[in-house]
Amino acid sequence: MIRSQAEHIVVIGAGAAGLMAARELARAGKRVTILEARDRCGGRIHPLSPSEFGYRADGGAEFVHGEAPVTRALLREAGLSLLPLRGARWNVDQRGFSQDETRASHTERLHEVLAALEADLTVADFLKQYFAGPEYGELRHSVQRMVEGYDAADPARASVLALRDEWMNSGRSMQARIVGGYGALIDFLTAECRKHCAAIHLGAAVGAIETAEGRALLRCGNGETYTADTVVITVPLPLLREIALPAEAHNRVAAAADIGFGNVIKLLLRFKSCWWVDAKGNDLSDLLFLLSDKTIPVWWTQRPAEHAVLTGWIAGPKTHALANFDESELIEKGLASLADIFGLSPQRLMQDIVAARAINWANDPFARGAYSYATPDTRAAQSTLASRQGAILFSGEAVYRGPDMGTVEAALASGLEAARTIL
Ligand SMILES: Cc1cc2nc3c(=O)[nH]c(=O)nc-3n(C[C@H](O)[C@H](O)[C@H](O)COP(=O)(O)OP(=O)(O)OC[C@H]3O[C@@H](n4cnc5c(N)ncnc54)[C@H](O)[C@@H]3O)c2cc1C
Repeated sequence: MIRSQAEHIVVIGAGAAGLMAARELARAGKRVTILEARDRCGGRIHPLSPSEFGYRADGGAEFVHGEAPVTRALLREAGLSLLPLRGARWNVDQRGFSQDETRASHTERLHEVLAALEADLTVADFLKQYFAGPEYGELRHSVQRMVEGYDAADPARASVLALRDEWMNSGRSMQARIVGGYGALIDFLTAECRKHCAAIHLGAAVGAIETAEGRALLRCGNGETYTADTVVITVPLPLLREIALPAEAHNRVAAAADIGFGNVIKLLLRFKSCWWVDAKGNDLSDLLFLLSDKTIPVWWTQRPAEHAVLTGWIAGPKTHALANFDESELIEKGLASLADIFGLSPQRLMQDIVAARAINWANDPFARGAYSYATPDTRAAQSTLASRQGAILFSGEAVYRGPDMGTVEAALASGLEAARTIL
């Protein structure tokens, strides 16, 4: 293929957005270079070694939510398949285990008020304004748990209108996993980039970008420099502030303060057996999700796959209380939560452990958190960030203006949009 040496595009970040943008640009014949700070591709898609967990467990993104048209089209192209989730959702509280699917009381009233809402406000203000009474205590608790747990969001900042659709459809549906994990999708995209001659440089953290006469000069922490006609920046939102940018791009980045960005701590515990199936006399052999009020409140299994792995999850502002715990202390917290839930001793669970990981994404130097969420001012901020001015474009899950912010689908769709803007 004859490549135009006149146009060189540098993509910063080899996550889902960066790889997608690079693949589209490279296969359209552009000269593309990807600069990635880590020693691997994938970013917040982080497959763990099969030798640890018995399969390619996901330390970051794991589920394909909802319709996800860009993801599904890519999976078809890659010859990858989806395995729908199967199993039951259990709750546990001081009364014990229950599979009670009945919705919190006043849910209908919540839907009525939401449907009639015209002006946006934060979730916390919404609850204060419409559901302040003591009779709504359970409803407030369940809304806050959903906002923090699924969206990793702070109710004091999260937009109620942005979450309305999610709630009306009873939460962000977690429908399926990719057979081979999200890592298989990243492998496919990486191979596609290479096939179309995009260069991928790992260990290349961009620290500064200067522009002159319509061209950009990029400086990396490892001392290397690159020039480009166009730069696509796909780094996570908190990392945008760490790159020295020309004044115009710097001003656009200021808008990012109006986009929420939450944290997640994810634990993966592999045991010798699926000991949880017999829980205080309850048959939990169908367990998919388990919701509790313990320190690590949410747990899930790999059903329908039979791996003896439990994944623990804590998200949103509650993760701040665990900020100073190292990996082994987080694993201890996880085991203590499980021991409490199942009435077992943590030592007995520890004896059964085959492999364990705990990832606090806020402490990851190239993520500084998990994913974005909408505040009442986010749509305007995204338009400012996504507007193309000069040589620099912003892309990534946080810039995506569709309904599934904070997902892999959002990142892929945003990467595609950036490539199409350039082409
Ligand atoms: C724990 C967790 C669970 C999740 N679960 C799900 C899920 O189940 N389903 C779902 O759809 N989504 C989920 N997500 C969200 C999903 O992972 C992200 O929305 C998506 O992967 C973001 O892709 P991206 O390309 O926008 O950003 P990233 O994947 O973060 O890619 C950006 C890249 O930029 C690199 N970078 C950073 N700074 C620099 C620099 N200065 N120079 C060069 N490179 C740099 C980073 O290393 C990274 O590789 C989850 C995220 C986390 C953390």
